[in-house]
Amino acid sequence: MNSEVPRRHPALPKTGIFPISSLYVHIPLCAGRCSYCDFFSLSAEDDPQLFLRGYEISYVDAVLEQTRRWSEEFNAGPFSTIYIGGGTPSVLSVEVLERLLRELAPYAASGCEWTIEANPESVHRPLLDMLARTKVTRISLGVQTLSREEWPVIRRIGSVEDSKRAIALIREYPFELSVDMLAGIPRPRRRTDTGKDMLLDSLEYLAERVGHISLYDLTLEEDTPLQHQVARGELLPQSADEMAEVRDAANALLAGYGLQRYEVSNYARPGHECRHNVAYWNMEPYLGVGSGAVSTVQYADSERKRMLGGMVRITGGKDLTGYTAESTKIPPEVEYIDRKTALFEFLMMGFRTACGVDTERISSLFGVDVTQSIPSALARWESEIVRRDHHIALQARSFDILNRFLVECLEELE
Ligand code: SF4
Repeated sequence: MNSEVPRRHPALPKTGIFPISSLYVHIPLCAGRCSYCDFFSLSAEDDPQLFLRGYEISYVDAVLEQTRRWSEEFNAGPFSTIYIGGGTPSVLSVEVLERLLRELAPYAASGCEWTIEANPESVHRPLLDMLARTKVTRISLGVQTLSREEWPVIRRIGSVEDSKRAIALIREYPFELSVDMLAGIPRPRRRTDTGKDMLLDSLEYLAERVGHISLYDLTLEEDTPLQHQVARGELLPQSADEMAEVRDAANALLAGYGLQRYEVSNYARPGHECRHNVAYWNMEPYLGVGSGAVSTVQYADSERKRMLGGMVRITGGKDLTGYTAESTKIPPEVEYIDRKTALFEFLMMGFRTACGVDTERISSLFGVDVTQSIPSALARWESEIVRRDHHIALQARSFDILNRFLVECLEELE
């Protein structure tokens, strides 16, 4: 099932009963370019001007102006979660970043979970002192590997030592700390091991020190340096069986340290889950500001006013000069998502989580009974499914069948 073809909107729908309480701020700047990355982000190699203080200030001004105007336009906030992501937000100078955080503070609700992404080499005491003075509660650190063998393969700025130093330093402050890691980094031909032990050693080091770990399977994105190296045979990718074995071992190790797999790629000690990402997986609407940021707005059905009529997804332009000049402009092309597609997205995101799909919420938003919408998929995978309260979930050990299960759900919904 595809979303409707993007079309010109006559007027953006009013959010009404679906208020927006999550804000994402995109900082598309990085100190360098990692070999596997195809995110929208620019480095000094792409354009040194972007890293001059004058440009940083212009970009932050543009973000703040967009936040002000779009919060009004979409009736968004106060925000119970704010996430500053990238890119690498910590490449901004401390003064410019502090200005961004201070000016965003009035948009934060009481008890707001406020996350900022950082890369280890840009973590230093003046930055952390400043973050502690503002409302930031959580740091998401992009480590990816703690193996000296793997570090050069993914060509990240910094080093394993930088990562360990940054983790130790952050732990001196009262922030929640989450670490991003990669599973399945390809290996040079000379290496005979799969990388499993390296990953497990890294995870063990982290599990003793942090309350939240995101462990993503590395995907070879088209036209990235890493993909070219694999295509030329210089690096060997991990097979599906190797990846499954690594994931099983990681699950067991992290569970032993009390880090529960609460989403396909995310592990946390109870109470340390990322509320911002939980809002995404629950398909709560959110506002995204900054060049290339995505917003998802929901609107009510015109006849059944308590139900979801559909969603609008707006993706900001990926042209930094254009963005800085006109950050508040709503792009003329937006993606309209009809009710049927929205229902599939709710199921798809819900089944990614250990909590699963909230059947009462689906019923109130869509007027459908999940068990009647996908009866065959539920029956076929009954042994992999757990039902509790008003939720239906895949058992955590069954996440490896998620894609097959979702394909069957999709076929049934069509
Ligand atoms: S730091 Fe993150 S966003 Fe920047 S190039 Fe590396 S992977 Fe991409």
